[in-house]
Amino acid sequence: MAKTLFEKIIDRELPATIVYEDTQCVAFRDINPAAPVHILLVPRKPIVKLSDADAADQALLGHLMLVASKIAAAEGFGEAYRLVVNNGAAAGQSVFHLHLHILAGRPMKWPPG
Ligand code: AMP
Repeated sequence: MAKTLFEKIIDRELPATIVYEDTQCVAFRDINPAAPVHILLVPRKPIVKLSDADAADQALLGHLMLVASKIAAAEGFGEAYRLVVNNGAAAGQSVFHLHLHILAGRPMKWPPG
C-alpha cells in the first residue's frame, strides 16, 4: 500500500511544522489554515476515515480527543476551539488518513458550511 500524504509527513519524508507527537499520533500545522490556529492531529495508524475505525481503535480515538484539547490549550485557546472530522469526500475529506482539525483564534459560526 502506498503511504498516505500524512504518513509521509509522520515519517519526515515531507516537510511540515510538527507541534506535537507521541507514540500514537502526530500533530502539525495545516498548510492552508482556515483559522489563526489550524492544526491537524493524525494517528500514526493509517485509518482511512472515522467510519473505518472499530472497537479496537476506541482507546486511540479517546487519546486523540484528549491530545487535541491539550494542543488547543498549549496554543493559548484551551477554552475556545473547534474540532472537525470530515468523514468521506462528500463531507469534505480530501486526505484519506483520519485526522482531527483543531481550529481556534477566531469566532466560529454555527452551523459550519
Ligand atoms: P480534509 O479535507 O478534512 O481531508 O483535510 C485535509 C487537510 O490537509 C486540509 O485542511 C489541507 O489544507 C491539509 N493539507 C494538505 N496537504 C498538507 C500538507 N502537505 N501539510 C499540511 N497540511 C496539508
